[in-house]
Amino acid sequence: MKHVLVTGGAGYIGSHACKALKAAGYVPVTYDNLSTGWQDAVKFGPFEQGDLTDAARLDAVFAKYDPIAVVHFAALSQVGESMQKPALYWRNNVVGSLTLFEAMLKAGCKEIVFSSTCATYGDHDNVVLDETCEQEPINPYGASKRAIEDMLMGFGESDGLRSVIFRYFNVAGADPDSEVGEFHQPETHLIPLMLDAIDGKRDALTIFGTDYDTPDGTCIRDYVHVMDLVDAHVLGLKWLQDGKESRVFNLGTGNGFSVREVVNESRIVTNKEVPVVDGARRAGDCTMLVSGSVRAETELGWRPKRSDMKQMITDAWRWHQTGHYDQ
Ligand code: UDP
Repeated sequence: MKHVLVTGGAGYIGSHACKALKAAGYVPVTYDNLSTGWQDAVKFGPFEQGDLTDAARLDAVFAKYDPIAVVHFAALSQVGESMQKPALYWRNNVVGSLTLFEAMLKAGCKEIVFSSTCATYGDHDNVVLDETCEQEPINPYGASKRAIEDMLMGFGESDGLRSVIFRYFNVAGADPDSEVGEFHQPETHLIPLMLDAIDGKRDALTIFGTDYDTPDGTCIRDYVHVMDLVDAHVLGLKWLQDGKESRVFNLGTGNGFSVREVVNESRIVTNKEVPVVDGARRAGDCTMLVSGSVRAETELGWRPKRSDMKQMITDAWRWHQTGHYDQ
């Protein structure tokens, strides 16, 4: 059996990845401290509770399953929170990843697919971003992910650790079967917050900043469906198993949507009004993050199938109405 260790497998993207990995014939072993994930979301393979900074626990899990590779999602990922609590991000994301990489090398596991982010690029004055752009993060979240990328490059040189690094743009949508979906506590992301506002679970969506240098004054992001994103991870794993060299890939569609455009699309999909109030900018937000690359399509053969905005909101709305995890 081909075990794959999935750190953060109880979280939003990790749980969808476990479903895709199982469908591709792997046994996904979730390693998660449940600080932001849900045990209910672990449905596709064994669960091992543990923290990334716990070296002894990691050693025991590597010994138990002898995984062929690691898919590393576990991280704190909120831009706003990282501005308030940078130490938390350096400790959890960077020290945690270092502990994981050392455990991998000790166990002789030398292939990893890593979740990085477009937040490592920073603000580039309204240009679309490809993998060769300078990485100049403007918040501790992005900086922590860039540091982990640097560590992976270093361990590649020193120890032959091979990596596929995915720089995600904004992930949205949910499993069309509603077995797993997006559920953060507290929620900070645009689409789930908007769906809450639409069905009255909160008074309104606050738009963070309406004076950006964009056509309608709100921030622009590139949204990619979580099912498409996790398909890329299966391809990334195959890339490593085929013996190919370490590589960085953006995962986005190249289509930018402003916050107001996402609000309008949600109105159309749900056929309901979206209560919004204009608010101040959120510290740490870039004006525009849009992928300017087709590297994942040309080299990995990745083809996004559900990353149309209406489809993403439709799938998120279905999950919002029918799915939940016990808290
Ligand atoms: N956003 C907003 N109101 C909210 C949450 C998010 O206007 O309540 C904006 C945010 O400023 C950003 C975009 O929506 O421009 C996406 O934010 P999200 O937190 O979903 O993802 P991020 O881009 O931070 O990874």
